[in-house]
Amino acid sequence: MNKQYELPLADSGYNFAFLDEFAKREVRRCILKAIAIPGYQTPYASREMPMGRGFGTGGLQLTLSLIGPSDCLKVIDQGADDSVNAVNLRQFAELTCPGIDTTEHTGDSSLIQSRHRIPEHPLREDQVLVLQVPYPDPLVIVEPSEARRKVMHGEGDYSRLLTKLYEDIVQFDEITISHRYPTRINGHYVIDPSPIPRYDLRRLDQSRALTLFGAGREKKIYAVPPYTRAEPLVFDDVPFRSEDFRDARGERLACGRCGSRDSFLDEIVQDDGSRSWQCSDSDYCNQVLSQANSDEGMNA
Ligand SMILES: [Zn+2]
Repeated sequence: MNKQYELPLADSGYNFAFLDEFAKREVRRCILKAIAIPGYQTPYASREMPMGRGFGTGGLQLTLSLIGPSDCLKVIDQGADDSVNAVNLRQFAELTCPGIDTTEHTGDSSLIQSRHRIPEHPLREDQVLVLQVPYPDPLVIVEPSEARRKVMHGEGDYSRLLTKLYEDIVQFDEITISHRYPTRINGHYVIDPSPIPRYDLRRLDQSRALTLFGAGREKKIYAVPPYTRAEPLVFDDVPFRSEDFRDARGERLACGRCGSRDSFLDEIVQDDGSRSWQCSDSDYCNQVLSQANSDEGMNA
């Protein structure tokens, strides 16, 4: 987005948070329904936003419907606050929501919009996490008809999904889904938890914060309320495994920047072909780094 651009708020009659009050009310009603039926894909009238579908319009509509002037918003894309998608969405919120604060610190935020990651720092009860979702229905890979998928969800019939996972085990000796791992919420509905890595699923389970999922193109909202079970779909004799970042010798890889050995790492391939690893959550990485620096300063 052009930094010089100013939305002509006074002339155009744009509402606070861009959406009109009627639209926000409708989204909030759907959010309440989604919270009341954990994991259920609630249909809603997804609005046209001044950006392409697929750039987080679903998440953005949730954020804009919930945000108030006293809120502090954090926007991340793959864990980073400074990537193009996150910067643009944050600027859009700043333009259209006069009075709000924005932050890069997880702890300072009341509302977090995220693409493909749950922050490393555990969230609190007074925080809301909004995840952008490209494909809301985990059954879409086994059943093309939405009407039939609705019946399968209603009956809790996920046998074809389990068959798909079983085929993976037969072919590759393990389940090969790396993200969008089907997850059962509160013992019934199975959701597509958006493209978060498997690593993040344990933080969805019994999370203190409310987690909301918005799919703009598919016009669906669903929720994992606080303190709700979120269990990856598995077999009794094949335990769920998440990324463990171990090298060939079995040692846990460390972030090349802050040295942390307990965060989700991104692999970075340098021009010369060498590989390094870095925390995917940039705020977490910065905090570990500044903590290490201040410890060093005290010891010096
Ligand atoms: Zn780091």
